[in-house]
Amino acid sequence: MSVRQGIVVKSTGSWYNVKSGEDYISCKIKGNFRQEGITSTNPVVVGDSVSFEMIKGDNEGTGLITQLHERKNYLVRKAIKESKRKQIIAANIDQALLVVTLDYPETFTLFIDRFLVTTEAYRIPAVLVFNKIDLYDDSQKRKMEDMIAVYEKIGYKCLKVSAETENNLEALKTTMQDNVNVIAGHSGVGKSTLLNKIDPRLNLKVASVSPSHKTGKHATTFSEMFQLAFGGSIVDTPGIKGFGLVDFERWEIPHYFPEMFSRSGECSFRDCTHTHEPGCAVKTAVENGEIAEFRYNNYLEILKGGEDKYRKDKHRK
Ligand code: GDP
Ligand code: ZN
Repeated sequence: MSVRQGIVVKSTGSWYNVKSGEDYISCKIKGNFRQEGITSTNPVVVGDSVSFEMIKGDNEGTGLITQLHERKNYLVRKAIKESKRKQIIAANIDQALLVVTLDYPETFTLFIDRFLVTTEAYRIPAVLVFNKIDLYDDSQKRKMEDMIAVYEKIGYKCLKVSAETENNLEALKTTMQDNVNVIAGHSGVGKSTLLNKIDPRLNLKVASVSPSHKTGKHATTFSEMFQLAFGGSIVDTPGIKGFGLVDFERWEIPHYFPEMFSRSGECSFRDCTHTHEPGCAVKTAVENGEIAEFRYNNYLEILKGGEDKYRKDKHRK
């Protein structure tokens, strides 16, 4: 029996739609697959690379997934609120795009930085897409340029676009092309409009995902991967809110601020939290202006959030 390779583009529980070349084949799973050391309710997810065999006789034309290939990364969310069980919602993501607007609505840097902490934790490259540039006045434009300077220096790719005037959409396409993308951002920043402009076939297919408005809902829906007309794909995940649901240990947070992590070796204390310790290279860099003050303040805020959570958990016992 010949073994074929494919990518899972949709899962409905017991059936998996696998894209193999230009073919789409409905597949079932054979046996159990080893998980990534986490208890997960679903063994194979959208984005997974799998081997499968075509079935003969009954169910002719369908396939049997026989092997799950190693994942380079994956997105998780808690299977049920307050539960320890995790659900993998998508795998092998090449990049996460965060659509940001300076106004209409305003995206705060704390929101951006929480997103970046999460993508760092997932080891997914992040791109910041500043949309609605047609609407900004000079002071908003200056503010945007200042933000872009900070994020580009850290190593994050930034794009300035307007879905309305179609400004720079070619750059957005080039960035997404041939990659597996996920897209996030507040409701109203223009995610649907942008996707629709770069590939009109996506119209209505990709529901806009808004991290701030989908908490705890969609417990039983699944992710789906859509092919982009110009190459590559976009994964629509019901739980992109899952971006905020990874449980960080407090000590991990400084690892996810690259410009701080790269300096932490120079701090006097090996386990420096960059808050109150003497001889802290991170604080020195903030004072020198080498690390943006707003990034450092957001770091403190995210750290504090972790601490609150930690305290709450303690009280519950
Ligand atoms: P989503 O919730 O992120 O999917 O946002 P939508 O795509 O629904 O856009 C929200 C509103 O912003 C709509 O009225 C869009 O027409 C508008 N919009 C989106 N992009 C732009 C842009 O670049 N410039 C302007 N002026 N309006 C935009
Ligand atoms: Zn330090």
